[in-house]
Amino acid sequence: MERAAIIGFGCAGYHGLKALREHGFSGQVDVYEPTGLPPANPMLTTYYTGGKLPYEGMFPFGGLEEINAQYPFQFRKERVNRLLAKEKTLVLEGGTRESYTAILISTGAEPFIPPIGPYPKDRVYVMRSVADAQRMKERLQGKKIERAVVVGASMAGIKVAEMLSNLGAQCMLADLAPRIFPLAALPETAAEIQNRVEKKGVQLAFGVGLSGITPEGDGVAVHFGDRVEQGNLAVLCIGTRPSLSFIDPSEVEVDRGILVNQRMETSAPGVYAAGDCCQGRNLQSNTQQVIGLWANAGIQGKTAGSAIAGGALCYEGSFPHNITHFMGMDFIGLGDVKAQGEPYFYQKPDGSFQLRAVFQQGRLACVNILDNYAISGVVKNYMVKRFLGESDPISPMQKVALLRSGLTPGVIQRLEGIVHETK
Ligand SMILES: Cc1cc2nc3c(=O)[nH]c(=O)nc-3n(C[C@H](O)[C@H](O)[C@H](O)COP(=O)(O)OP(=O)(O)OC[C@H]3O[C@@H](n4cnc5c(N)ncnc54)[C@H](O)[C@@H]3O)c2cc1C
Repeated sequence: MERAAIIGFGCAGYHGLKALREHGFSGQVDVYEPTGLPPANPMLTTYYTGGKLPYEGMFPFGGLEEINAQYPFQFRKERVNRLLAKEKTLVLEGGTRESYTAILISTGAEPFIPPIGPYPKDRVYVMRSVADAQRMKERLQGKKIERAVVVGASMAGIKVAEMLSNLGAQCMLADLAPRIFPLAALPETAAEIQNRVEKKGVQLAFGVGLSGITPEGDGVAVHFGDRVEQGNLAVLCIGTRPSLSFIDPSEVEVDRGILVNQRMETSAPGVYAAGDCCQGRNLQSNTQQVIGLWANAGIQGKTAGSAIAGGALCYEGSFPHNITHFMGMDFIGLGDVKAQGEPYFYQKPDGSFQLRAVFQQGRLACVNILDNYAISGVVKNYMVKRFLGESDPISPMQKVALLRSGLTPGVIQRLEGIVHETK
């Protein structure tokens, strides 16, 4: 009898389960998730912490019973401590072993804490899991936070800074990088965002590397070399690392994440991986990369579930893209922010949105959009097509959508690489 295991029940694990059942897998499916919780959306944690979302709002697919009624599975509130990939066997916390015909690894990622020596753990926070959100919420319900130091000017960092500012705390957002969103924003876009963020009262510091956190009074002193910033607490949003401690790299090929092909197969037969724990194909660079995005995790999970059930789905890959709303603005960053090439800038005459791009050999390599969420989907899909080698122009329907959202025919042509000068 076929028997599958899913290790980790986040977005990728949920979509893996759903696809298994939808593709007719009739064997037992064991889902291992040590939190005991249904799949949560980490993007929503700051909204819960900041009081904008109820607790249940963090679980977009509903509760465990609800999911079980649709896609039956055995829930195992246990951590997997070891994967014996050749035997397709899991070693659980208590030492129990369970063997399967197929295994999906969907353990996601965990916040990265740099090696800064001992620090006062009770005053330092991260933001990824439901437990992280609850811990921060409990702190916010305690003594008022006058000042907070958020390290990491990432998408997570800005959300945390926004949430704390909204609650009346003075926030410092600091990063070793020279600018905000170093992995997504072109320098000019970053300058504009920084300007707006500072006007909202958030202090910014760039080019500062975290070297330590020490207790100071009942708060913290956050050290960046000689520079010291005080706060009631610090939040580390420095990035994440795939959760892979249970994997033996001599059995499953791992780079930064688990290496997978377009069917989400790992190097170990019968073992699949999906989501933030794995490295799929970056369509733009044609390299293997962890692309830590919600939609990417979902499609990878779906592809893995289909493959285990004998389905034919393939996932060509994705590319870095961020679509984020914060502090009253929409920022969209698509493609390789380090791409060198011909720059392009368009601002709607009424100043309501701006688009900045870099072209390489006449093709879009990077796009930043500020304040126009509506065009992001079309531009992103167009870039995906081009990276896949399809030469189709933007479809007439999509052109209508872009025109309605404020682009001009000239700008659309420019995005397609058809004309090289736009007045
Ligand atoms: C603050 C924040 C903001 C974000 N903003 C965006 C955004 O704007 N857009 C976007 O696309 N993405 C965003 N993301 C990223 C997005 O949330 C992730 O890419 C996505 O949730 C990854 O899903 P996953 O299933 O791979 O991993 P996860 O959701 O991390 O799920 C992994 C699960 O595996 C479990 N697990 C781990 N180890 C084990 C083990 N040994 N045994 C059993 N279970 C285990 C964990 O408990 C966890 O429940 C954001 C993330 C954060 C934290």
